[in-house]
Amino acid sequence: MSSVLKFYSDTDLGAIEARPFKVFNERSLEKIPQLAKLTEAQRFEMKVVASVLPFRVNEYVINELIDWSDIPADPIFQLTFPQKGMLAPESYERMAELHRRGADKAQISALAKELRDGLNPHPAGQLEMNLPRVNGEVVEGLQHKYRETVLFFPSQGQTCHSYCTFCFRWAQFVGDKDLRIASNQKDQVLGYLREHPQVTDLLVTGGDPMVMKTKNLAQYLEPLMEDDSLAHVQTVRIGTKALTFWPYRFVTDNDADELLGLLTRLVKSGRHVAIMAHYNHWRELETPIAREAIRRLRETGVEIRSQGPLLAHINDDPAVWARLWKTQVQLGIIPYYMFVERDTGARHYFEVPLAKAANIYREAMKQVSGLGRTARGPSMSAGPGKVEIQGVAEIQGEKVFVLRFIQARNPDWVQRPFFAKYDEQATWLNHLKPAFGEEKFFFEDEYEAMQAGSG
Ligand code: SF4
Repeated sequence: MSSVLKFYSDTDLGAIEARPFKVFNERSLEKIPQLAKLTEAQRFEMKVVASVLPFRVNEYVINELIDWSDIPADPIFQLTFPQKGMLAPESYERMAELHRRGADKAQISALAKELRDGLNPHPAGQLEMNLPRVNGEVVEGLQHKYRETVLFFPSQGQTCHSYCTFCFRWAQFVGDKDLRIASNQKDQVLGYLREHPQVTDLLVTGGDPMVMKTKNLAQYLEPLMEDDSLAHVQTVRIGTKALTFWPYRFVTDNDADELLGLLTRLVKSGRHVAIMAHYNHWRELETPIAREAIRRLRETGVEIRSQGPLLAHINDDPAVWARLWKTQVQLGIIPYYMFVERDTGARHYFEVPLAKAANIYREAMKQVSGLGRTARGPSMSAGPGKVEIQGVAEIQGEKVFVLRFIQARNPDWVQRPFFAKYDEQATWLNHLKPAFGEEKFFFEDEYEAMQAGSG
């Protein structure tokens, strides 16, 4: 295996071999051979950050996706390896000090918890507002934010083949049970869906549901095909980054064929099955195994839609997005969303001001054909809904952001243009002020009432 990134223009099937899944975490960080090339100071920084933010990376990512001659700038290195700047300087210093004086595990864990609590582990009211109930009892592992879509977090899928350093679900990976959203209550979940005929879309998410064995995934998906009382669930989306982090899942893993068979049957049952593939950089699409996984998945009849956040240090460049979308279209993937990095975890390291984000989106769009322009964004998954920055305009002498809800807690808010004062620094919806001297955005009173009622 080479440590230098290879660029493939076409799938080279001869290069594909099964490989064992070998993963490193903060305890085995030092065992990654490539890190020997870094200075001791750099390795220490990683260790400090990895004791607060989740770290997990597998050998495929290390050997095939990262260009080790371009460290630390390499985007996939930034995507998976902890960097000093991911913690605020004061937080970093406090944790570094504990490590320097050889503090025990309990002290490190206590400080890690304190620091994590300050990083908004559940943005956009995930824990308070979106919990579905049956007979007053909360159904574990479900979120029901939008009328027609239910999010399901199967308990066996609450990890990923590697972790993204910017992950907005990071809180689920750090072992704090209070922060987890997960479920193994299959009957309750299916029961909830039966009782809610307005739900047409089921989004299976995580972590990454593709870390699950096929037989575990099947226990949730098979009933959709067998049970008439679930016929209203017409669309099944599966969120995953396995096409990047572990494409072997769809090609050489023991139950890869079984997985593809399950998806084929689900498609044949008349369901629209969408693989919501998380991509951040065109480099993720370049290895033979990644391309073979895409090819095999598409053969089942599923759609692959791509989505991912815009991130400083990784992809804040229109050329990166243009190449990502062009390559996706070439491979039969439908570009779907460019997200704004959420207000959680190490966001200060990755955040891109909304004004810059809108510009990157537009400049990238200009470079792609119509089929690449299906990507919406930049979009913020905020408390009231998904808000897209449509652009910057000048109206009656005032420079404004033109915004719209792509998705909203109240469907009536969707597609209604609204305006915020232009602000070069703003990075999230709550930084924006209404334009034209208005006091509130049109949805604010209603949203506040919803928040008050959800307690
Ligand atoms: S794949 Fe998704 S859930 Fe997993 S670490 Fe990355 S962003 Fe988080």
